[in-house]
Amino acid sequence: MTDLTSLGVKDIRDGVRSGTFTAREVATSFNAAVADAAALNAFIVTTPDHALAAADKVDAARAAGEPLGAMAGVPIGMKDLFATNGVQTTAASHILEGFIPRYESTVSQKLWDAGAGMLGKLNLDQFAMGSSNETSYFGNVSSPWRKSGTNQPMSPGGSSGGSSSAVAARIAPAATGTDTGGSIRQPAAFTGICGIKPTYGRCSRWGIVAFASSLDQAGPMARSVEDCAIMLGAMAGFDPKDATSLQMDVPDWEAALNSDLRGKKVGIPREYRMEGTDQAILDSWEQGKAWLKDAGAEIVDISLPHTRYALPAYYIVAPAEASSNLARYDGVRYGLRDLPDGSGLQDMYAATRAAGFGDEVKRRILIGTYVLSAGFYDAYYTQAQKVRALVARDFERAFEQCDVILAPTTPTASFPLGSMNEDPLTMYLNDVFAVPASLAGLPAMSVPAMCNEDGLPLGLQLVGRPFDEQGVLNAGLAIQQRAGFSARPEKWW
Ligand code: GLN
Repeated sequence: MTDLTSLGVKDIRDGVRSGTFTAREVATSFNAAVADAAALNAFIVTTPDHALAAADKVDAARAAGEPLGAMAGVPIGMKDLFATNGVQTTAASHILEGFIPRYESTVSQKLWDAGAGMLGKLNLDQFAMGSSNETSYFGNVSSPWRKSGTNQPMSPGGSSGGSSSAVAARIAPAATGTDTGGSIRQPAAFTGICGIKPTYGRCSRWGIVAFASSLDQAGPMARSVEDCAIMLGAMAGFDPKDATSLQMDVPDWEAALNSDLRGKKVGIPREYRMEGTDQAILDSWEQGKAWLKDAGAEIVDISLPHTRYALPAYYIVAPAEASSNLARYDGVRYGLRDLPDGSGLQDMYAATRAAGFGDEVKRRILIGTYVLSAGFYDAYYTQAQKVRALVARDFERAFEQCDVILAPTTPTASFPLGSMNEDPLTMYLNDVFAVPASLAGLPAMSVPAMCNEDGLPLGLQLVGRPFDEQGVLNAGLAIQQRAGFSARPEKWW
């Protein structure tokens, strides 16, 4: 029998439907692979029983001739930012350590309703703040990839680095991610997998630990465009519990996949040719253009003139919202409480937050509080909101000339863990190509293109019009078919 852990979402779903193997066999194989991969530190907790129980339900439904859901028999990893009923949910923080929600996030519930099971809760950057998975209270996540000829631990990207590491290592066929300013796309690019952030509002934010509410979006991470289309279909949909949820039907993205791009225009934003971008990344971008042309698309030059202001604006808007969202962690309601002897309420707040938040989270809270303070609000926050509107307008204008935009996902390939920690600004630069689409709320995807000379994967990014996930997925599929990306990390864990 084929090694079940080499299969993706579609193959597992189809194999379970046709009876080639049972959902229990699949869950058992992945549970074993997860248990064997502790060295990656991709999971904060594992939940093999959840995966098995979900599988047994699917097998029983099949035996009874009942219809099976879109994710039937597929065990997945759940980023530990999604509240899961009865299973610890920490956002990779000390302050939420031991927090066991009594409710389920909308997105995870939809996945269980579609027949998926949970292998465990995936590690991430603390409160989803980071680009390397080094800010987790539960330790760094290692990428399964290594530079050829070395054994230095590499970053799986962040913040969804547990998700990217697990999917690339084939200990999970797919995982959930969240993307506030690149956290699905950048880790997908670093690990040679696919990930799509849908249009803002497609996936409910209800039950996801909030980072920056006007930017946060959930999305799937998997090894193929088809798998992402299937899983996104199961995650998306209107939710009255999220005030910014889109009241729109969820299209059948899988059924409408089509890599024939004749009649489509692909925009190449000239401002994305930035200094500091690796030559290999620029080469892969050129190659991407050639692939899309080969698929029938016309390539057009476009301009997104406010691109260089997007990252600075993001690092005002996101911390501002985070500082407000994180005010709820005060030692009163959830997780950690540090109440020094004989102290009062204020002391408890201070001690709990000092002990419970990591340095990067504290940095964001300080920045956010500063830019929202009375004296600086207009100079920073209002200004950043104006820039955000300009960035969104750039895209609106560009989409008058093209249907989808092609750009690199990141300026470099993955880097060794520990090599970028000196200066937070260099770390922030990782998301320079990802953040503009986040500010504009647009659907955007990363698809693996090739490996660089060190044998590390590089991703290409596709950005679409609002609600046009299909256009993004179709262009992604055209790249996937031509790239034929089949490299996989050698097992060392
Ligand atoms: N790396 C970015 C940050 O640290 C984006 C994180 C994210 O998308 N959650 O804010």
